[in-house]
Amino acid sequence: MSLFSKKSPAPEPAIKAETPLAETALAVIHDGVIITDHEGTAKFINPAAVTMTGCGSAEEFLNLDYGSVLKLVKLNGSPLEDAENELFRAMQSGQPLDDYRIGLSGNVLTGSTDKIIPISLSLAIDSARNRIITFRNIAKDLAEESEKSDFISTASHEMRTPVATIDGYISLALNPQTATIDERARGYLTSAQNASKHLGHLFQNLLDVTKLDDGRIKPKFVPVELVSLVKQIAETYSTAIKDAHLNLIFGSQKNSSFSEVRRVEQVVYGFVDVDFIRLIIGNLVENAVKYTPAGGSIYINIVGSGDRAIITISDTGIGISADDLQHIFEKFYRADNSDTRTIGGTGLGLYLVKQRTEAMNGSVSAESIPGKGSVFTISLPRLSSEEYEKRMIALNNKGVL
Ligand code: ADP
Repeated sequence: MSLFSKKSPAPEPAIKAETPLAETALAVIHDGVIITDHEGTAKFINPAAVTMTGCGSAEEFLNLDYGSVLKLVKLNGSPLEDAENELFRAMQSGQPLDDYRIGLSGNVLTGSTDKIIPISLSLAIDSARNRIITFRNIAKDLAEESEKSDFISTASHEMRTPVATIDGYISLALNPQTATIDERARGYLTSAQNASKHLGHLFQNLLDVTKLDDGRIKPKFVPVELVSLVKQIAETYSTAIKDAHLNLIFGSQKNSSFSEVRRVEQVVYGFVDVDFIRLIIGNLVENAVKYTPAGGSIYINIVGSGDRAIITISDTGIGISADDLQHIFEKFYRADNSDTRTIGGTGLGLYLVKQRTEAMNGSVSAESIPGKGSVFTISLPRLSSEEYEKRMIALNNKGVL
C-alpha cells in the first residue's frame, strides 16, 4: 500500500528526459532533482533525490504533491512553518530561488525525524511553468565554513592584543609629553598609527562577522521605541560629523530623486537587538562620513510604514556606481575608483549591516546617484503600541518574552 494518497486516480505520464544521455546524467549526478508541474505535482524524481529524501522509489512518489516527499525543516531540525518556507513561497509565486540553505528530513518513508540533511536548494521555472527543484547535501561545506570561521575568529582575537600594544606605543612616541621626536619621525609614526588602527578595525570587524555566522551571538530581542533610540545613537556621532565639516540632519531623508523630504514621526515601536541597531547605524553613519566631502550633509530618519519600521541614512557624498551597488553588501567588497582609493576601509562594514539586519528579520537596500549621494534603507518589523505594551509588561513581569 502506498504511504501517500494519490492526487488523481488516472496519473498523468511522468516527464521523461529528452535523450538517453540526459537521462544518464540525471541518474548519476549526486544532486537531487525533482520536477513538478505548475501546481507542484511531481512528474520526475532522480535517484539522488530518492536516496536523500528516503522516499523508497520514484514510482511511489510520482503524481503526488512535492511537499509529501521533500520535507523541509530548519537546519537545527525544528519544524518550518509555510510562512517561513522560501521554497513554498517560490513554488506558489513561480519565482526562481537560488542557494536556499535549509534542512531536509531524510526519512520521509518512516516519518522519523532523526536524519536531517543540510541542503542548498534552487528552483528554476521553465517555459511550460514546470518547477525544477535541485538540491545538494552541504554538510561538508558547512563543516568547512565552521572550521574557517573558527580559525578567523581565533586569529583575529589573538592579533587584536599585539595590535593594541603597537598602537599604544606609537601613541606614546607621538605624545610630546612622553617622547621627543623630529618632524620626519612624526610623519612615519603617524602613517604607522593609521595602518595599525586599520588593522585593529579589520580584526574587530572580522570578529563581529564570525560571531554571528557561527552562532556565538544571537539577537537579544527587546521591545523599544525606535525614534528615541536612533536619535540617541545619531547624537553619539555628532562630534565626528562636525569634525568632518558635515551637517547632521535628523528627521529628514532623501527620496529616490534625491530631494530632501522631511517626515517626522513621534514614536515607532520595534522588537530588536539594541546592540545590533547601534552597530548598523554606526557603520552606515561612519560610511556616510567617510564618503561625503566636507560641506555635505548626512540625514538620519526613522518612520513607520504599515507593519515596517524604516530607518534611512542618506548623504550628499560621492555616491556609488550601478555596478558597485550590486555588490556592496558582499564580504570584503570595496568599490575601487579614484574617489575611494584613498579612503581606508575593510569591505566588511556593509556585510555586517546586512547580516545583523537579517538576523532581526529585516532587510537593507541602497540607492545612489554617483556624484549626488547615497541612501541606505533598513526595514525592520514594527510593533503596534498594543504589542509593544504587551511585550513590555511581559518583560517587566518575568524578564522573559
Ligand atoms: P568599507 O570598509 O570599504 O567602507 P563597507 O562594506 O562599509 O566597506 O562598504 C563597501 C563599499 O561600499 C565601500 O568600499 C564604498 O565603496 C561603498 N560605500 C559604502 N557606503 C557608502 C556611502 N555612504 N557613499 C559612497 N560609497 C559607499
